[in-house]
Amino acid sequence: MPCQSSDELKLLVKEAKVCTNYGKVADYIPELGKANPNDLSIAINYPDGRCISAGDIDKKFTLQSISKVISLALVLMERGSPYVFERVGMEPTGDPFNSIAKLETMAPAKPLNPMINAGALVVTHMIKGDTVEERFHRLLTFIRELIGDDTIGYCERVARSEFETANLNRALCYFLKQHKIIQEDVETLLDLYTKQCAVEMNCLDLARIGMIFAMDGVDPLTGKRIMPDDVARICKTFMVTCGMYNASGEFAIKIGIPAKSGVSGGIMGAVPGKFGIGIFGPALDEKGNSIAGIRLLELLSKNYRLSMF
Ligand code: GLU
Repeated sequence: MPCQSSDELKLLVKEAKVCTNYGKVADYIPELGKANPNDLSIAINYPDGRCISAGDIDKKFTLQSISKVISLALVLMERGSPYVFERVGMEPTGDPFNSIAKLETMAPAKPLNPMINAGALVVTHMIKGDTVEERFHRLLTFIRELIGDDTIGYCERVARSEFETANLNRALCYFLKQHKIIQEDVETLLDLYTKQCAVEMNCLDLARIGMIFAMDGVDPLTGKRIMPDDVARICKTFMVTCGMYNASGEFAIKIGIPAKSGVSGGIMGAVPGKFGIGIFGPALDEKGNSIAGIRLLELLSKNYRLSMF
């Protein structure tokens, strides 16, 4: 039986919060360095509309790499999977998210999967539209539909801060352009990518997106299908194989929930057929995952037997 009350969640947050002392907020994007390392919040969104939560749930954060799952879902719908997987692979790397290493040794130089930065940049490149505004609007419209909230937007400060400092991502883009995996202007792509990563919400919103993935793309309250079940299935599979950076194997063994994290400290979980989870805890472990967020998921998974394996 899954966790049923906010009081149960509050106890788990209290226990996991100790871990925030042992993590560090990401500061390679200068704006992210301003986060409070002791923040921790969680929400669980059930298909019947119930939502339980604990911690600083009003705190907003940017999606960062969590956005990669959503942009992947969008391009799979816009382009179809054969087109997408001709340009980005399906294999985990075991390398850090921003590594260029495998790209150099692969022939052709197609990124191994859409969850590492190189692959995510290729996915963002595939978002349809003539201008950054139009393409970002498509993505934002999809995110707003997933949450059922038209006010969702992005944090300009975080987007600018990343755009101004994203030299490693620039290097990845130029490499991909040299190998003709992407064709557009690198600055244009980075503009779109950094806005995508800076889409902002709270853990309640994130739990709601996780719930739609958990329910195979259908909003159970309205019965409306927001994405094909095959798209939701592919996304959840990537969340299992490469959603938690190069800790995905350990995460699958210890926790066993499809999940995607971001360097802002967000984690989205989708427990298949059951519920969605949204977590925010900006203190990260050495692999880039929310240190208290992982602990919280570990407690939840053990206490309520949530592992899908
Ligand atoms: N915008 C971040 C980057 O590309 C996302 C990284 C992450 O959350 O893993 O570096």
